[in-house]
Amino acid sequence: MQSRKDNNFKNKTIRNDDTSDDNLEIFDVIIIGSGPAGFTAGTYTSRAKLNTLIITGSLPGGQLMTTSEVENYPGFPNGIFGPELMMNMRQQAERFGANIVDDEVREVDFSVQPFIVKTHAVKYISKSILICTGASPRKLGITGEEKYGGRGVSYCATCDGPFFKGEDIVVAGGGDTALEEATFLTKFGRSVKIIHRRDTLRASKILQEKAFENPKIQFIWNAVIKKIEGDKKISKITIKDLKTSEEIGINTGGLFVAIGHEPNTKIFNGQIEMDAHGYIVLKENTKTSVEGVFAAGDVHDYRYRQAVTAAGYGCMAALDVEKWLSDKLK
Ligand code: NAP
Repeated sequence: MQSRKDNNFKNKTIRNDDTSDDNLEIFDVIIIGSGPAGFTAGTYTSRAKLNTLIITGSLPGGQLMTTSEVENYPGFPNGIFGPELMMNMRQQAERFGANIVDDEVREVDFSVQPFIVKTHAVKYISKSILICTGASPRKLGITGEEKYGGRGVSYCATCDGPFFKGEDIVVAGGGDTALEEATFLTKFGRSVKIIHRRDTLRASKILQEKAFENPKIQFIWNAVIKKIEGDKKISKITIKDLKTSEEIGINTGGLFVAIGHEPNTKIFNGQIEMDAHGYIVLKENTKTSVEGVFAAGDVHDYRYRQAVTAAGYGCMAALDVEKWLSDKLK
């Protein structure tokens, strides 16, 4: 990565771009991503009178746009639908003057100041950047998965577990998340079957022991899920035994897919530091390895992954951006 010699945006950096930046508006902050982290950050930065642009990404509102009821976001004692919650957050950011464009960032350049952010057709420049692109749960990619998403197929036990009281639940995966979620789901379900594609688990020993000891948990080894069926909601899955190739139907009221997450960081490859899994590494509070570039939410937090924690990180990052900009302008 090219090092930035001059971090003072009062002096414009000269670049050999084909497009002149002379007529481009310089934003104080561009927020990339529009889940709870992005919209919360946008509310804080625009309310602090920072010229803010939020570029939403291909799914404006993020993961919560594909969920149904959210029961654990504070302030909504009767719950709220995910899309409604996100629309409220968007309107709250807009109320204070955040500019929002529904577009996808294709390319960034963090080696120059002001930073460059490009969508398919438009180039934007900004003094600071806040990355809130989140992480996406890995999908099984099988028949019925999309159709029954939010109708029995879930990617978050903490979020959706309480909706599955008394059900026979299936969990796919053999890592820490699968075992942790399966154990949590035994609080609600009548039974929990863990379906894993091998005969050894990737999960830590302590989680394995807990799961093996739990009378409600049963393991199905060397098997993959082939198909999800149902009517209004999921009622059955078909699994394939990888040793015998036999296909077996299992009745279920809920399938939790826990086969890992992918942080949405491909466009930042080579520009900022990430860990081996592609999560952004934070250096100090919400600062990344590039001065003036911040990150908030699931894009760095692989542990909690909750709407409320993402919103909290969004707030923290917005305050860090504000402080960083005011220090630079002194
Ligand atoms: P993970 O460790 O990557 O495990 C994913 C699991 O899903 C693996 O067992 C994998 O099988 C299976 N899998 C992947 N793709 C599949 C597919 N297409 N079909 C069927 N199975 C598939 O992911 P994770 O469990 O979400 O954990 C992510 C990270 O967070 C890990 O570093 C983990 O230690 C950490 N974490 C820690 C805690 C904790 O400490 N309490 C809790 C949660 C997560 P194979 O084993 O065959 O590859």
